[in-house]
Amino acid sequence: MSELATVIDDLAVANRILFHQGVVDGFGHISARHPERADRFLLARNMAPGQVTRADIQEYELDGTPVDPAGPKPYLERFIHGELFRARPDVMAVVHSHSPSVVVFSTVPSQPLRAICHMSGFIGENTPVFEIRDTAGSATDLLIRTPELGVALADSLGERPVVLMRGHGSTVVGESIRQAVFRAVYTEVNAKLQADALRLGSPVYLTAEEGAAITVTNNGQLDRAWNLWRELAEAAA
Ligand code: MN
Repeated sequence: MSELATVIDDLAVANRILFHQGVVDGFGHISARHPERADRFLLARNMAPGQVTRADIQEYELDGTPVDPAGPKPYLERFIHGELFRARPDVMAVVHSHSPSVVVFSTVPSQPLRAICHMSGFIGENTPVFEIRDTAGSATDLLIRTPELGVALADSLGERPVVLMRGHGSTVVGESIRQAVFRAVYTEVNAKLQADALRLGSPVYLTAEEGAAITVTNNGQLDRAWNLWRELAEAAA
């Protein structure tokens, strides 16, 4: 199998994993940088991620233009992906979702999302929140509909792995499809645990150094989660 065929296959699987792990529902998406052309990315056509197959994966320029002008309808928010790939040469995959526990933390400025458990140490301290009003005013539909909004989101993300989007969701990046999927799943887990802990009292969070150390460990274990989640997603199909 060519490298491109492998990436397309993994991307289709990743869509179904994210659905079965509760990160995406009828909405949300995951992209991968084109393995042979760093100035392009791969993303499903406009459809529910849990139904994506290899045949649904399309190719886009970084500005969000479909390579095939006669292709199927694209996602409205494809600009998230292209502008993050442009801003972050280290990023090979991007997950955008509306997973509910994470949305909560996008809405309370006094409670930033922070790493509270070892599986989500990559989150680190004080996750940034993108405020669309700062770029586009207070009357948008909150969606990243233009390259300009994609650039503004990339500015908020900076060099971090996760950016929350106020009242909307989050975007998670990774050096591989597997890492991005792992991070998206555990960003939602962390948000749920953090909200639970905050109801009990004042949580003890991971230090930046603990987060960095566990990230090195977890990066060596990505296949273990991927292989399980893939089997569960395929069994449910
Ligand atoms: Mn969205």
